[in-house]
Parts: sequence; structure tokens; C-alpha cells
Amino acid sequence: MTAAVSIAGLNHWFGQFHALKDINLEIAAGEYITLLGPSGCGKTSLLSVLGGFIDPSEGRVTIDGRDVTRVAPAKRPTTTMFQDYALFPHMTLADNVGFGLRMAGVGRSKRRARADDMLALVGLADSARKHPHELSGGQRQRVALARALAVKPQVLLLDEPLGALDLKLRRAMQDELKAIQRQVGTTFVHVTHDQEEAMAIADRIIVMNAGRIEDQGPPAQVYQQPASLFSADFMGEMNHIPARADGNGVQTPFGLLPSAAASHGTSVACIRPEALSLGDGPVRIGAAQVKDAAFFGTYSRVHVVPDAAPDLVLVANLPPNVVPKPGTRLNLAAQSDAFHIFPIGD
Ligand code: ATP
Repeated sequence: MTAAVSIAGLNHWFGQFHALKDINLEIAAGEYITLLGPSGCGKTSLLSVLGGFIDPSEGRVTIDGRDVTRVAPAKRPTTTMFQDYALFPHMTLADNVGFGLRMAGVGRSKRRARADDMLALVGLADSARKHPHELSGGQRQRVALARALAVKPQVLLLDEPLGALDLKLRRAMQDELKAIQRQVGTTFVHVTHDQEEAMAIADRIIVMNAGRIEDQGPPAQVYQQPASLFSADFMGEMNHIPARADGNGVQTPFGLLPSAAASHGTSVACIRPEALSLGDGPVRIGAAQVKDAAFFGTYSRVHVVPDAAPDLVLVANLPPNVVPKPGTRLNLAAQSDAFHIFPIGD
């Protein structure tokens, strides 16, 4: 079961506080969407509007072409999986997974068959008779997912579903979650504040900031061509280089960048640490002195002070075979299309 979702002209106020601002979003059937942003940006509020737990002040939500804006949560083709996914401790896993079906009046044998299928889907086929306390955190999370999918929602809404897991398990579960979503084909809308999780899992990332959609697109696009300075910074580390845009291009301490910004005035030229490289290139950062360096397995993270901008400290992710000592002199360069220019006003 899967369905397209459409959000049009959505605004929501909690009292005087404008929590969701002019949200318009089309989600395709079967798409895996992550809502990504810092704490308080409105991710959970938007998910709650989709699930029917918040009646929006303005705007319209349609699922599979049906206006559900004022439809109660239980009557929507959605299921919400909260971070605190509390399984019933006294019930077996099969009964936990079949619980929603029981509430819907589905008979015992059908419930049991569906629960078995769902437990098999999440890799717990042999555990139907176990109780939640016999499971690890990751296994409990899988049961919660099986329970949410058992009722065949057209849209599954997940609020920080991996938030309670340790980092390693979290990364492993991301892969599983994506694989399961591919298998069932249900539309998933997944809230997270973890950009690595969003990149690992999403077909499309929706970056939110202060109640607005700030950027959106496939992970590579949002990372490589962020639409705003906020999105650029939120999606990963960025070096900020002071710059000034005029009719000819963008002037920086490292020369004129040909990738001219449309606007004029004070700007910031951003470049990711991995886009700085040793040696020569179209944009010459030039000689720089190492402040410190650390080995990170697949790369060395190096802080350098460029001669051309002694007030600036740049972070460069260099090959791991180079872990230069403080004081070492390096020569750095970059491709001109690696810079992202954002106006910051005068
Ligand atoms: P987090 O990652 O911390 O859960 P979030 O991005 O999900 O954050 P929301 O929970 O959607 O953010 O909250 C958005 C803003 O709306 C916050 O400033 C929050 O304080 C406010 N807010 C949320 N729910 C209510 C409410 N019921 N009444 C008043 N303000 C609320």
C-alpha cells in the first residue's frame, strides 16, 4: 500500500508562535522522504499535521488525492511510529505486531499470519513467541516497525525512529529501514536531525529551518549544491571564506572566483573540507601553515592558516597517508566549481 501526499499553503501557529510557514510539498507514492533540521525547526509539527495530530491553522493535506486535512488520525491511511515506540511488555511479539489489526477487528488466524509475515520482513521470524524484554534495542525497534507496517498504511510517518539506538546500531538499522521500505513500497516520511542518517536513507531530503522548507532534493544535490548558507552548513562541515561579489565575479583572498554569484555585495564563499587538495589547481589557496592534524581512518583532518588570509583557519580533509605535524608548510588548491557563494548582505 502506498500513496502520494500533497501539502499546500500550510501554516500553523501555536498561539502567537508561527511554527510552520508557507509549506508546500509534493511527495510521490513510494518515495522515502526525510525531514531534516535542528531542534525546534518544526519537523515533528509537520509530521503531526500529516498524521492528523495537529489541526493546521491554514492549508490543505491530501493523501492519494483525498483531502484529509480535518480527518482524525485513526481514519487516515497513515501510521505514525513515535520515537518512544513502547511495545506492550506482557504481549508476545506476534501479539504486539497484530495489535493494530485486532483493533481493526481482524480475526485471530489472519492476524497471526500477517504478524508472522511482518516479523519475517524485519528478520525476526523465529521470535514470534518472545516478549519485548528478551530483545535488544535494535530488535525492539524492528518489532515496532513490523507493528506499524502490519496495518498496511499507505504512508508511514516515523519520528526519530532510530533516536534511542547507539550510533553503530543506528547506522545498521538505517540500511535495514531503507531496504524494508523498498520491499514494501510504502511512502515513508522520516524525521531526523542527523544529516548522515538523512543522506543514508532518503530519496529526497527536506531541510527545514525555523518553520520553513529551506532546501530540498536528493542527498547528493543538497550536499553538493545547497540552496542556502543554512543548508550548506547543516548538511556537513563548510569552510567560510569572506568574499565580495561584483559584476566580474567573486573576489576572495585567493583571487577572483569565476563562478560569479548573481548578486552584488558582501558574500561568503563556502567550500567543504574534502574539496581542498594538496598541490595546484584552478583556484590556488597557495601556501598554508598547519595548525594541527588528526588521523580519521579514511582521511586526515588538517587545520591550516593560509598565507593569503592569515586571519582564516581552513579545515582540509587530506589523504590519510598525510598527517602533517604542526608548522608544516603545505600548498593547497581547489576546483572553482567546489565553491558555493551566498550573499550575506552589507
Ligand atoms: P525536535 O527535533 O527538538 O523535536 P522539531 O524540529 O521536531 O524539534 P517541533 O517539535 O515541531 O520541532 O517544534 C517546533 C516549534 O514549535 C518549537 O519551537 C516548539 O517549541 C514549538 N511547539 C511545538 N509544539 C508546541 C505546542 N503544542 N505548543 C506550543 N509550541 C509548540
